[in-house]
This record gives sequence, C-alpha cells and structure tokens, in this order.
Amino acid sequence: MRKALYTGQGRGGSLQAILAAMEPELYSLVVGCQTDQPLYEAFPAKRVLHGDIRGAMLPKGEWVRRWQSVLQQPGLNEKRAAYIHIPFCQSKCLYCGFFQNYSQLELENAYIDRLIAELKLGAGSPYLSVPVNAVFIGGGTPSSLSPANAGRLLKAIRTYLPLTNDCELTWESRVHDLVPAKMENWLENGVNRVSIGVQSFNTKVRQAAGRLDNREAILERLAALSGYNQATVIIDLIYGLPYQTHQVWLDDIALLKTAAVDGWDLYQLNVYENSALKKEMDAGRLPAAANVREKAELFAAAHHVLSGWPVAQISVCHWAKTSRERNMYNIMAQQGHTMLPFGAGAGGKAGDFSIMQEQDIKRYMQRIDSGEKPIIMMTASPASANLHDAVKNQIKLGYLDINQLAAEFDPRIGELEALLALWEKNGLVTWESRIVRLTVAGQFWYVNLMQSVLECINALLHGAWSWEMQQGVVPG
Ligand code: SF4
Repeated sequence: MRKALYTGQGRGGSLQAILAAMEPELYSLVVGCQTDQPLYEAFPAKRVLHGDIRGAMLPKGEWVRRWQSVLQQPGLNEKRAAYIHIPFCQSKCLYCGFFQNYSQLELENAYIDRLIAELKLGAGSPYLSVPVNAVFIGGGTPSSLSPANAGRLLKAIRTYLPLTNDCELTWESRVHDLVPAKMENWLENGVNRVSIGVQSFNTKVRQAAGRLDNREAILERLAALSGYNQATVIIDLIYGLPYQTHQVWLDDIALLKTAAVDGWDLYQLNVYENSALKKEMDAGRLPAAANVREKAELFAAAHHVLSGWPVAQISVCHWAKTSRERNMYNIMAQQGHTMLPFGAGAGGKAGDFSIMQEQDIKRYMQRIDSGEKPIIMMTASPASANLHDAVKNQIKLGYLDINQLAAEFDPRIGELEALLALWEKNGLVTWESRIVRLTVAGQFWYVNLMQSVLECINALLHGAWSWEMQQGVVPG
C-alpha cells in the first residue's frame, strides 16, 4: 500500500522543512516518538529496510549477456567475498523463514555436482581472477552435507576461486553435526571459521523451537570443535523465544563467558506469519514469544552484562571474545563489496549489478546443465548505492558520521543534523566529538534508524519520499 504521507518538496529544501511537511503517522515512523523510555517506545513499530533502494531491474533477456560482460571486465584491486548456498536441512526449525529442502543424499549428490560446475563456469576469466578475501558457505545447513560432498565442494572452492592466504572460510553448522568425522573433514579442507546456530543453551527453549541437542551436548561439542585449534568458533543466540524468560536469557548470556567460542551474534526473534511457530502459538501449544518491549528488555540486559566483560562489540549485534574472530565476510557484505553468488537461492553483487539466483533446485540444476549462470533477477546498482552502503555500514557499526558522508558524497547530507538533534533528545544517539554513537536504545532500533536516514537522504537529494511506506512490518 503506497501512502501519501509526505507531500512536501525535499530537493533544495531543508530537512526541517521536509520533516515539518510530514503527516504525524509518517513523522513518528521516521523521527520516532518523544518519550523518556526510548528503549521501549522510540518508534511505534519495528521496520525493515526497504528493497526499493536496490536499483532498477534489468530486462530478463539481458541478464546472461551482462554477466558475460562482467566476466570480461579486468579485475579491480578491491576486496571481495563469495557466498555459496546449501539449500538443505535435516529438519525444519519452528521459527524458520528460510527453509528450502529436506536433506536427501541422491539430490544432494546431484546438487553438489552442479555447484562445482557453477564454480568452474567463468573460472580464470579476468573478473574472477581477483583474490577472494572471504567465503561464506551458508544455507540451509551446510553441515548437513555428507563428508564426501562437503570435501569435494571445499576442494572445488579452493581450486576455482583465487583465495587470499588469509581468506576467511566460514562454514555454517548445526550443533548436531559437530561430530569428529564431519569436523575433521571441514578442517582438513580449509574451513577456518565455523558459525553455529545455537539459538539458546536452554534445553526446554531449544526443544520448543525444534532444535535437537541439550545444553550439555552443545557445550561438549563446542569444546570439541575448539579443541582442534584450527578454526574460529562463532555462535548465534536468539532472544524472545517461547519459554525464554529473562532469567533463562541471562543464563544463556552468562554461558558465553565459559563456552568454547570466539564470538557471537545476538538476534531478536521474528515470528513469520506462515511459520510453524506462529501456528503453535496461535493454537496455544506454545506460550507467546516476547513482544517488542520484552525483546528490548532482553537486548538491554545482555548489553549490560557484556559491557562489563573484556570483549569487543564489533557491530550492534556481534561481539568478539578472542582476537581470532575477524567477522570479515559480514563486514564486507555490509560495506557493499563485490559478493560473488553461487548456488540455488544465492544472492550477491558483481560489477555494477545485484544478482539473485534461481531458488528452485530442479530449475537451478537444469540451467547449470545448459552452461549458464542461473540468474533470476539482475538490477543495476543505483547511483546512490555507495552512499547507501556507507550509511548502512556506519549504523550497523553503531555510529553515524554525517560530516564524512557530506564530504564524500554530497554536502546536503549535513542537513541530517536536524534529525540527529531530535534523536539525541529522544535518547537514541549521543554526540561524541563530530560523530554520533547509537545508545543501547538506538542499537535496539538500529534498522529503524537506517531506514529513516536513507529516506531523509533520498528526500534531500531527490525531492521525493519515493519508497512505499511500511507500517511496522517486522513480525513479532
Ligand atoms: S537449520 Fe536454519 S535454514 Fe534450516 S530449518 Fe533451521 S533455521 Fe531454517
């Protein structure tokens, strides 16, 4: 639904005038609400980043030709990463919004054949000869692959992609797959970072979310992986799950101190409309997940504990406990570096284009068999892509430097000072010399801040509030 909540003219006007011309509904979404409890009440709803910032879609008939021309471009001296997608899981977690296919060996064998064939396509071309600094093998569940398939995929990655000596090679895993035969295979084949979806150490919370292992098994398996001393060990925790009381969450956080991990991400739960979790809660078979206010409390509680530990917060949701953790892939992705996509459902960025690949596994394999890159969407990067990436990267890292953005991209960005003054009053940011840093409340609402800054920049530079307004679109 497109709402005409802003009718003023931005281009050439001040941001103050733009904000003054907004209907109250839009104003509260963009600027937020005046409150002495910003952690809970800064905005009427959580938002997501809107897709329109990605740029114009290219006609279908041009995709393959454009990809071929990208391959012939000389490689620039830039950092780059690759994303490799494994669309299989052994079971479906209740909260999942990304499930694609159940694991099945015959299909897995056929898929890995095609994934290796895709890695070969264009290998050695000028564009694909530039060293790759980080590879992320995600899914789905890469750890569900048989050792034979994992081994041949990892060998192909190292054969066909020119990896740097210090390339970060991350492999996503479930706790359940941390068994010697699999771990040794990954490590022997070059994996140097394992990212594990723990979600919660609490056995009852885990079982309710459809996860298999109990707390003791998780700690033992993390220790076993760490014991090889070959890879960085990273885990994800989710806050807001059914049965995850405040105390359960504090216990989860406390365990991070002694668990054999090098770093962690803390994500808030999103309850997707069609998820099994929503159905279970609606039917009364599971207690409700945390609401926005309760999730804010959980985030702030974790932040409070972690700020007293000798750990480094490297983004609004990621912490490093040891110097082994570099988080290269994620940082490169948010900075907008080239991201080469491989596999069914993979997305990335190459040349001046964003790319999405065929998600349906059968159609993906057919297109690989016919020798073409299985692109199903290609968009030309908008002129403002670098500016958008810089804004998103700064906010994800917990700060905003409008002076640097104004100097690098456009002096009119300095007008954002009016918005930052309102956010400072509302307790979302604090000025520190010439930059603003996000408070704990600002970090909890960071996606709202990103979307608002991008919308205000768009209004300032292009005189338009051109993106469809979304009203608190984050579920849960
Ligand atoms: S392992 Fe990951 S992708 Fe697979 S069902 Fe669970 S959450 Fe979804």
